[in-house]
Formats: sequence, C-alpha cells, structure tokens
Amino acid sequence: MTSTVQDRPAIKPYVVSHYINGQVVAGHGSRSADIYNPALGEPVGRLNLANRQDINDVVAAAKKASAAWADTGVIRRSKVLFAMRERMIARTDEMARAITREHGKVLSDAKGEIGRAIETVEFACGILEQLKGGYSDQVASDIDVFSIRQPLGVIAGITPFNFPVMVPMWMAPVAIACGNAFILKPSERDPSASLMLAQMWQEAGLPDGVFNVLQGDKEAVDGLLTHPDVDGISFVGSTPIAKYVHETALAHGKRVQALGGAKNHALVMPDADMDLAAEHMSAAAFGSAGERCMAISVGIAVGSAADILAEKLREQANKVVVQDGMHPDSDMGPLVTRASQERVKRIIGEAEAAGAKLVADGRNIQVQGREQGFFVGPTVIDEVKTDMSAYTEEIFGPVLVILRVPTLAAGIELINANPYGNGTGIFTSSGAAAREFQRRIKVGMVGINVPVPVPVAWYSFGGWKDSLFGDYHIYGADGVRFCTRKKVVTQRWPELHGEIKASFDFPSH
Ligand code: NAD
Repeated sequence: MTSTVQDRPAIKPYVVSHYINGQVVAGHGSRSADIYNPALGEPVGRLNLANRQDINDVVAAAKKASAAWADTGVIRRSKVLFAMRERMIARTDEMARAITREHGKVLSDAKGEIGRAIETVEFACGILEQLKGGYSDQVASDIDVFSIRQPLGVIAGITPFNFPVMVPMWMAPVAIACGNAFILKPSERDPSASLMLAQMWQEAGLPDGVFNVLQGDKEAVDGLLTHPDVDGISFVGSTPIAKYVHETALAHGKRVQALGGAKNHALVMPDADMDLAAEHMSAAAFGSAGERCMAISVGIAVGSAADILAEKLREQANKVVVQDGMHPDSDMGPLVTRASQERVKRIIGEAEAAGAKLVADGRNIQVQGREQGFFVGPTVIDEVKTDMSAYTEEIFGPVLVILRVPTLAAGIELINANPYGNGTGIFTSSGAAAREFQRRIKVGMVGINVPVPVPVAWYSFGGWKDSLFGDYHIYGADGVRFCTRKKVVTQRWPELHGEIKASFDFPSH
C-alpha cells in the first residue's frame, strides 16, 4: 500500500568518526565509506574507517582505563549504570531519529529497540547481586573456600546494522558493570547512534577510556580479533562472519561469543486462533522490513490450517503501510541497502520460477516521494519447498514463506532439520501440542502464541546450531559469566591456631 509523504528532509552532510579515551577523533585512516538514508536511497554522511594505528590507540586507551575501572567499587560502578538509564530515557527521541535516518525502520520501532536496550542497563544496575560469589565455611580444619568473579579486562563488541542501539547495549552495560573496558565496533551502515551512546556514557560519569567506539570494516574487526590486549569478543551478525570471528578470536586465545543468523519458523496448528496467528505473524515478519534476527520468516501450516492461514496473511500483508520510517503512519520502512533490496527481489523471483505461489508480491512497490528508496513491500509465498532459495537462504527482508506439513511431528522434524536455531514459535490452543513443541524443538528461544520471543534482560539471549558459536548466550546471567573469570580461593590463617605441618601428599580432608 502506498500513501503520500512529507517533504524531503533538509540534510546537512555529516562525518562520523571514532571515540577514543573520551574524545571524538578523526583517526589516522585514509579510507571512508558513505552512510545512506535508505528511504531516500542516497548518501547523507561519511564514515571514517579505522586503520592499524587507530586500532592500537583504542586498545591502548581501553587497556589503561580497565585497570582503574576494575578497582572501582561495584556500587560506584552501578551508579553510572543508573545515570546511563536516565540519559537514555531523556534522549530516546533523538536517538530514534538517528536510527530511522540511517537504518530505515519506523520511529516507533526504533524507540522499541531503545526500550529493550534500557532494559539491559536496568539489569546491569543490579550487578552486585550477579557478582555474588559462594562461601563455604570450614571445609577442612580452619580452611574456608570462596569464589569471586573478576573482569576479563578489555572486551570488544562487533555489532550488526539491524539494531544499532539494542545490540551494542546487549553487551556494553554488562561488560562495563562487571568492571571491563569496552570497545564498540558498530556496523558501517548506521553508525551515528554509537557516538550518541558514547556521549551518554560520559555524561553518566563513566571514566574516559572505559567505553570507546572504533568505526570500521573488516580491517578494524581483524585488528580487534588478533590484538593481544583484547581479552574477549562479543559478536552479533551473519552466520558466515560469526563463524569466522569465532574461529579467529579463539585461535588468538580470546574468549568469544558469536551470535549468527536465523531462519525463524512459526508453526500454526489447525486449532489456533487464526486471526491472532495471522496478525502476529504479519507483524513479526514485516516489522522492521523483516530485518530482525528474530523475525518470523517461515510459517509452517499444519493440515487444514494452510489455506485459511494463507488467505489471512494475504489480507494482513495488504494492510501494511510502507513508507519512509519518519512518516507517522508508516508500519514498515525500506531495506538497508540497494544490494539488499535487489537480493530480496531475486529470491522472490526464484521462488516464483520454482513453482511456489505468490500470495502477496512486494517487488513492484512505489513509495511516492521516495522513488529511489530501497523499498520492497510485504511478500507472502505459499507452497514453498525446502530446496528453494526462499527457504535455504536467510532472506532478511519482508518475505514470509509458507510450508505445508501434515502433522505437528512433521513440522517439528522440519524445523529441527534447519541449520539455524535462533527463535521459533507455535500458535495453538492445545497445551499438549505446545508442550510437545517446546520440549522437542532444537531452537534456543521459543514462543507459545508469542511470535518474537526475545527474552527479557534477566534471561539470556541466544540460539542453537548455526545461530550461535561459543558457550555463552548474551546478556543476563550468561553475559555476566562471559564478562568475568571465576576465581576460587582456599584460605587458612595459621596464626589463629598455631603451626600446621606441610604434607607431601595431595591434600584430602
Ligand atoms: P554482518 O555479518 O554483515 O556484519 C556484522 C558485523 O561484522 C559488522 O560490524 C561488520 O562490519 C562486520 N563484518 C562484516 N563483514 C566482515 C568480514 N568479512 N570480516 C570481519 N568483519 C566483518 O551482519 P549485518 O548484515 O550487519 O547484520 C545482519 C545479520 O546479523 C543477519 O544475519 C542477522 O540474522 C544477524 N543478527 C543476529 C542476531 C542474533 O542475535 N543472533 C541479532 C541481530 C542480527
């Protein structure tokens, strides 16, 4: 659906650069990249890309700051988190506009991601509770044992374009609250929000050098993965890069968590409330133009659910208002790049050529006043088969494919055979079906009549199989474990009870 838009926004070209040791610096690199406004389809700014010297500068600043920050009392550290929460709330609108301008998602959705980012800050405000160790009194004569958790040192976060505030803030609040210094390497596509975050951390009272931003591409990432003074790598992005980051960081002796791509299935039973299922699947598939790692991109229709679901999804797709994300009525904005737009259209064409049925086709959408924008309209493709590219590829666009299966068991088997395992959901009115699904499914995050089951900050976020490489999920208790090393102390104070004889035997109690 199309509608008219406001006039073109007045755009003053801008330059986005690094933030090192409390200062915005231009850096030493000679390379730069365009920053686009995807709704207009044209560049609006330039991004300075880091070189080796910038990488060394940022790591040196973070390493220096990490020692004093690790020695700062935990309660003092958490006070900075409380202040950060206030700063983020106060500047939500401003940050949301920066996200929409460079990413394309609608303003209300940009505010939504900032809300989830604030939630992780709220979790990190209570870090003292998370850092509590265990204590065992008198495990042997005059001997106590206790455990503590200490920061890793310097953690680098490498983040994708699709959540330029939320994903960095899945990482930084926990890393910083645990006493680490943090280096953010944001996506090249929408880097402006990273500098706003840096400014807010400074306003919140975080010492210089504890939060830094390095802008760049592969050169910056490789520099961080191999630098001897970087202790931990948190990565979120596509599966091939997640795999590469995981292997490279491990080979360089670092702790690493690398979250990858997704193909999230929603299974619809014939007993489901079909209106609810179609409405929620449409929002989960087309929200943020499908550029969410938790987007529902596959509907699995069981038995007689298929025809009615396809029809209701067609109705839902046709209702979506596609517009510049700044437009107050917009439900869905453009894709992030021209290349993305072309790739998504190609995959839709391949499905059609392979015999799938186009229930709604968004390839030819025209948004008035935004003719050069990277738009693709909501698309629903029925009767897709598992060997079609629309099923095998992570489309990362507003495309929902439907596969038909005869039974719940067949649906579970199909989902479990997929290499990804990020999120999934079931729509049903049967508790027994929901329980069977939730127990048997090989996926990290499961929704029951909930299409986008992103766990709240107090539970960690992570997928299975090709959606996560490494042992730790992100944020929550797993985030704390990732950002700290455990130490177990066995203590005795001999002067209290006189001399104790040393033994050549292995100590037993
Ligand atoms: P991407 O993998 O292209 O980029 C992610 C980061 O890696 C960026 O900072 C980028 O600069 C860097 N990078 C890109 N190519 C590189 C290379 N060859 N070597 C080293 N570094 C490189 O991902 P994207 O397109 O920005 O984001 C979309 C992807 O992220 C999707 O696959 C989506 O599913 C995934 N994602 C996953 C989650 C999750 O929680 N599992 C969350 C958000 C996004």
